[in-house]
Amino acid sequence: DRKPFIAGNWKMNNTIAESEELIQALLPLVGAVEDVDIVVAPPFLALQAIVDSARGSAVGVYAQNMAEKDAGACTGEVSGPMLAEIDVHGVILGHSERRQLFGETDRLLQLKVPKALEFGLIPILCVGETEEERERGDTERKLRHQVQEGLEKVPLERLHEVVVAYEPIWAIGTGLTATPEQAQDAVAFVRALVQGFDKEAGNRVRVLYGGSMKAENAADLLAQPDIDGGLIGGASLDAESFAAIVEAA
Ligand code: 13P
Repeated sequence: DRKPFIAGNWKMNNTIAESEELIQALLPLVGAVEDVDIVVAPPFLALQAIVDSARGSAVGVYAQNMAEKDAGACTGEVSGPMLAEIDVHGVILGHSERRQLFGETDRLLQLKVPKALEFGLIPILCVGETEEERERGDTERKLRHQVQEGLEKVPLERLHEVVVAYEPIWAIGTGLTATPEQAQDAVAFVRALVQGFDKEAGNRVRVLYGGSMKAENAADLLAQPDIDGGLIGGASLDAESFAAIVEAA
């Protein structure tokens, strides 16, 4: 009885005005849904406006990144206390774009994940293999490393609060979706890794699939026993497409 979790990662899209337009289109479609945790992750500058607009609705607002430190000489970064101050609910951490374009490592994420929890933010830890790693048969090895390192410093009694998103890099923004079986296998493997820390936490933790998820393929993916939701990029930029995925959950 894990509550379905559908999150839209807007990435570096939408000015404040465009973000406002999107949330105003989305709220009438999903704002009263109760049986699904619905999340949008706008860019930093739009967070305050979207928190205000979504207040009192069923839509939670997450950041797309957070520094591992509370404050200090980290030019260009945004800290947990800053996000908590404006009532952001959670944060996407270790997205493959952060790892590939900005050099984020498992060692860094090991600090970020518990830091988010410390400030009352739900972390979504993203993991996933490249196409080359899949072809080499290294998918499980990669996932094991990412999950075990990323979650290592999370207090066991809070482990169930973390959300993990399995996003195969070859499926992100490519229109190539993992088959429901491929996604289920990887997500079940991720869950088993969390169970390795704590059996009960692994049973409770929500594990999402991400990578070219859209209204047309969401139902088949979400029907898999271990897939508790989705992390949606492109299709989350359109209110009706995103609402249709929420509907499928
Ligand atoms: P797409 O849905 O655009 O493939 O992006 C997935 C993703 O990276 C969500 O974080």
